[in-house]
Amino acid sequence: MGIEKILIANRGEIALRIHRAAHEMGIKTVAVHSTADADAMHVRLADEAICIGPPSATDSYLNIPAIISAAEISHADAIHPGYGFLSENAQFAEIVESHDITWIGPKPEHIRTMGDKVEAKRSAGKLGLPLVPGSDGAIEDVDEAKAIARDIGYPVIIKASGGGGGRGMRVVHTEAALIHAVQTTRAEAGAAFGNSAVYMEKFLEKPRHIEIQVLADTFRNAVWLGERDCSMQRRHQKIIEEAPAPGIARRVIEKIGDRCAAACKKIGYRGAGTFEFLYENGEFFFIEMNTRVQVEHPVTEMVTGIDIVQMQIRIAAGEKLPFTQRSIQMRGHAIECRINAEDAYNFMPSPGRITMWHPPGGPGVRVDSHAYTNYFVPPNYDSMIGKIITYGDTREQALARMRIALSETVVEGISTNIPLHRELMVDANFVEGGTNIHYLEGWLHQHKR
Ligand code: ADP
Repeated sequence: MGIEKILIANRGEIALRIHRAAHEMGIKTVAVHSTADADAMHVRLADEAICIGPPSATDSYLNIPAIISAAEISHADAIHPGYGFLSENAQFAEIVESHDITWIGPKPEHIRTMGDKVEAKRSAGKLGLPLVPGSDGAIEDVDEAKAIARDIGYPVIIKASGGGGGRGMRVVHTEAALIHAVQTTRAEAGAAFGNSAVYMEKFLEKPRHIEIQVLADTFRNAVWLGERDCSMQRRHQKIIEEAPAPGIARRVIEKIGDRCAAACKKIGYRGAGTFEFLYENGEFFFIEMNTRVQVEHPVTEMVTGIDIVQMQIRIAAGEKLPFTQRSIQMRGHAIECRINAEDAYNFMPSPGRITMWHPPGGPGVRVDSHAYTNYFVPPNYDSMIGKIITYGDTREQALARMRIALSETVVEGISTNIPLHRELMVDANFVEGGTNIHYLEGWLHQHKR
């Protein structure tokens, strides 16, 4: 079953990334876009473009009937959802497949299980992955919550089962604050995710966020492509990622990586996925699985030489994985900085017209961005306007190249977080490697930013 035309159900840099992967494989692309994105780069470059609605994402990038109609009108034989929007919507995946369109993604049942974090933890536990201590499933009542918190010890974190993107989480330090936190998180989760179930975990004080990239085909072959360290976060959202994770012994990583690949084989997982863990005192604790391509996938591509988006397409087309675990080699080091249209220190979004865009270049520098001079960053969507990824034989070289790349980058007309990245790239602790997930918030506080 070959794929000849892919409809890209997304926007921004990931839409462009998918378009590039498809064209390299000789596959045609169909862009769908809102009226706010009529001048977007991937819309200009795609073989066909179809407007699917007004700026509001609900009416365009989340508008399932409009996207399916666009696929039918353009005779697309596959849909790639990118990340965000409908990428982890199991019902959308089912609708796509019921229209005889190839879904470039995992099986709907796996998207559904992993999209519900309580279910995801339960199945990860059954698959032998270590979990963060916490409630066994959703919290049903107040007394139960108190008992569990006493048992695991404060601080604890209340998390929405349907949450994502760093939203729907609340840290609780005392029993007095617990009930209110459970109730508020539940109410917010119901409103935001349509699922008011919440669960509790021990709030780890100094963990790193380490994740394992996996790929699995429809013949029950599964491999893992090394790890990524995504500990540099603000409000539970990643801003810098790297591969490999500095300072963790290979045998420690290999053990958890092998377990992730084995889990995929066991459940018959299909496509790309990421197992996310918190890592503290030499131990991994599963927090969730993402059943899609991730923003930070390029760092893995740089150190493995494997094109993850093309692999997603090949797997969806029914091809076998072209490599075995043994043949996957990690070489060198890669770092990614997410470039956001926002104030570097107060983080206020800064949409508007980019009057000057000059991306960096040179050896080991990759820029994944849909921006260009005179591009208007719409206020309606995520503020990320691109990613700078650098590669080097060593972490030091990747860092040096990132410093140079950031110094070469010019973005005028809007504010970006590039000044923050420039500071972090020379921060002694980051340079040393291994900072934890709370480091950036502390740094911002200390530097009165
Ligand atoms: P999301 O789906 O919103 O990304 P995750 O469960 O992946 O949510 O958590 C996102 C981030 O929140 C983690 O990378 C980590 O920084 C923080 N976090 C989540 N669970 C815990 C925990 N138990 N202790 C400390 N920090 C946590």
